[in-house]
Amino acid sequence: REEVNIISGALDLRKKKVCDVMTKLKDCFMLPINSILDFETMSEIVKSGYSRIPVYEGARGNIITVLFIKDLAFVDPDDNTPLRTLCQYYQNPCNFVFEDVTLDVMLKQFKEGHKGHMAFVQRIEEGDGDPVYETVGLVTLEDVIEEMIQAE
Ligand code: ATP
Ligand code: ATP
Repeated sequence: REEVNIISGALDLRKKKVCDVMTKLKDCFMLPINSILDFETMSEIVKSGYSRIPVYEGARGNIITVLFIKDLAFVDPDDNTPLRTLCQYYQNPCNFVFEDVTLDVMLKQFKEGHKGHMAFVQRIEEGDGDPVYETVGLVTLEDVIEEMIQAE
């Protein structure tokens, strides 16, 4: 029965972690903050099909904000607007989560959160010195829900 599957899927959320369902950093469609929103870049964004684009400075792991597709509504590609200008205007916050957080907690956080339905997944690298946080991927509400409804 469908209902039974969904309920058992919901219970299984406690057994799975964010890192099991995330999209790995290397597979993420992202933009460097120094991009120019010209015709070529804007076409690539539209072609990607994603409605949220992480924006990084320097290394891909250094995500500083998120660009929403809707932020592009008033951007004219002929103006060659720097992405940085747009990001400074909207200042969309980033949500971070540790990779070992279970999906039931993640779901609750997405439901309660006011930062949208995407989070960046972080791993703690324990070295000799201070622990370093490394960004390893992104997770969205869709990833959690998919896990819940496809469970048999
Ligand atoms: P929406 O459905 O709200 O328009 P979307 O289609 O852009 O958003 P989601 O539905 O949240 O994205 O997620 C669909 C899948 O795509 C998920 O597996 C998610 O991890 C992945 N995803 C979301 N954004 C990106 C991105 N910028 N780059 C790569 N993968 C992404
Ligand atoms: P996103 O998650 O990409 O920001 P969104 O906020 O526009 O998308 P959803 O998250 O899909 O929209 O939906 C949020 C709520 O708003 C839902 O209850 C949905 O039914 C409602 N909603 C979405 N689009 C409209 C609309 N055009 N008019 C009225 N209600 C809408």
